[in-house]
Amino acid sequence: AKETHSREKMHMNIGTIGHVDHGKTTLTAAITKHLAEKAGAGKFYAYDQIDNAPEERARGITINASVVAYETENRHYGHVDCPGHADYIKNMITGTSKMDAAILVVAATDGTMLQTREHLLLAKQIGVNDLIVYMNKADVADEEMIELVEMEIREVLTNHGFNGDDTPVIIGSALCALEDKEPKLGNDSITKLVEEIDKLPMPKRNLDSPAVLPVETTHKIPGKGTVVTGCMSQGVFKKGDAVEIIGYGSTLKATIAGMEMFHKTLERCEAGDSAGLLVKGVKREELRRGMVAVAAGQIRPARSIIAQFYLLSKSEGGRDKPIPNDFSAMLFFKTWNCEARSVIEENDLVMPGEQGKMKFVIRVPMVMIVGDRFTLRTGSVTVGTGIVTEVIE
Ligand code: GDP
Ligand code: MG
Repeated sequence: AKETHSREKMHMNIGTIGHVDHGKTTLTAAITKHLAEKAGAGKFYAYDQIDNAPEERARGITINASVVAYETENRHYGHVDCPGHADYIKNMITGTSKMDAAILVVAATDGTMLQTREHLLLAKQIGVNDLIVYMNKADVADEEMIELVEMEIREVLTNHGFNGDDTPVIIGSALCALEDKEPKLGNDSITKLVEEIDKLPMPKRNLDSPAVLPVETTHKIPGKGTVVTGCMSQGVFKKGDAVEIIGYGSTLKATIAGMEMFHKTLERCEAGDSAGLLVKGVKREELRRGMVAVAAGQIRPARSIIAQFYLLSKSEGGRDKPIPNDFSAMLFFKTWNCEARSVIEENDLVMPGEQGKMKFVIRVPMVMIVGDRFTLRTGSVTVGTGIVTEVIE
């Protein structure tokens, strides 16, 4: 048989964000067309194929999102494009289609708009730090307008905590590229865009933060000790490390006596690994799913968090009214749930079908970490979903 050249390409998840009608879907189609024709890699997705996003259910929320795949010489990409503003909000908060970096599309004819800013805010909250701006519709805007809009974009980026000075801003027309017109504004701009996409830093696994392993199961191994299993969400554990296993109001001290992954002994275990830790110094009876094993002294349990929160609309099975102050419901994190109360300051209500900042206080201290996602339920009904943006004592 003939050997095929197969080099594993690095994979990255990106997507288009920006105000409605600024050209996100047209640009997505143009990128796939460009790469399919020029680089012979991947297939061309026509506008209608992308905009016809399949419905996906995430924790009781319907999200419409298209994920298209394309590749350059060096990398493979998954690219998300959502049909509507609400879909972007829900997708970003639930993390259904993850984005490591984003292409912000701004029409030169409008400049930044309300949804542009809302997407930037959410991108920041979910940990997207790298952006490329594609200033679209340059075919119907004059020079002066383009210059002004670029200045405005850079300022808005800076105001949202991005690097407004150094973020690449590519000026072009996605429609011209798609229709093979005006090559300078059309295809050339896509060539430049793809070059910038390929320069985006690859996402780093979070190895520098304190080690954290949310406990999923616990086992007793007679004569040896207790094993807790779970997927490490950040950091690195090594054999012999001092750990604390925290949750439901207790903090238990233990030592890692051994580690295993897929029945193989490990000397170290890092973010992304699903592992079993053999811990000495605690009894299995003291441990429960939902507790979190952390590097000793590095992380403390808390009762209050601030979250970026999406409240489901009535038609999504949610409430018809905003959540009032001191509203009681259950917060569901990945491995645990707990009764929580809302704290609304200055009448900052989040309306059904919209997102905003919300504070919750839970009944017992638990480990919650910025970036953790959760849902809020009353009975068996999901009323909203959030991402932790701040942990308060
Ligand atoms: P989205 O809502 O951000 O996905 O925007 P679409 O991609 O659906 O584009 C909205 C409208 O703008 C459509 O009618 C497009 O044909 C048009 N459009 C997109 N890109 C350009 C462009 O570069 N120039 C012009 N003149 N129109 C464009
Ligand atoms: Mg669209």
